[in-house]
Amino acid sequence: MDLELENKLKDTFPVMFEEMHGDKATTCMHFGCECHNGWYNIINQLCMSIDSYINTASKDRQRELARNILVNEKRWDELPKWDRLPGEHPVVRPVTDAVDPVVFKQIKEKFGTLTIYFTGGDAVVSNLIHLADLISSVTCENCGSPGVQRTGGWIRVQCDGCYGSDNTAN
Ligand SMILES: [Zn+2]
Repeated sequence: MDLELENKLKDTFPVMFEEMHGDKATTCMHFGCECHNGWYNIINQLCMSIDSYINTASKDRQRELARNILVNEKRWDELPKWDRLPGEHPVVRPVTDAVDPVVFKQIKEKFGTLTIYFTGGDAVVSNLIHLADLISSVTCENCGSPGVQRTGGWIRVQCDGCYGSDNTAN
């Protein structure tokens, strides 16, 4: 992928791409995103989804923790009305685990589709990454148009226009 696009991803999502262009001895992200520019939008939208999910999960968790403090301290009046049943005191509720920040370890084209290795996240993040993999299997790696997997030596996803052209150097 072009350096300009890689830097755009790194600037927008500094935590996820903290290893981008790092030391070759310690991270595969040294090589940047090892795919062509046609998948930039998939990666960018994926990162937006992960970012939004982690932010929302974190806010929900903070709200639940704050609520439980009020319950523990019997500060019933400060709880929202819908949380107070007549004649009953609200109880402490279990709080979901925090979602660890996602850090990409390698992003590349493998067997024709986008393959991403990462640390952190949870099952939701894994599903989002799986979805990005599926979308890449029908998206031209060169230009981002709808494409199909072309076989013969090297499996890759290309649209009709890019298939067979020399527009594969990158
Ligand atoms: Zn194309």
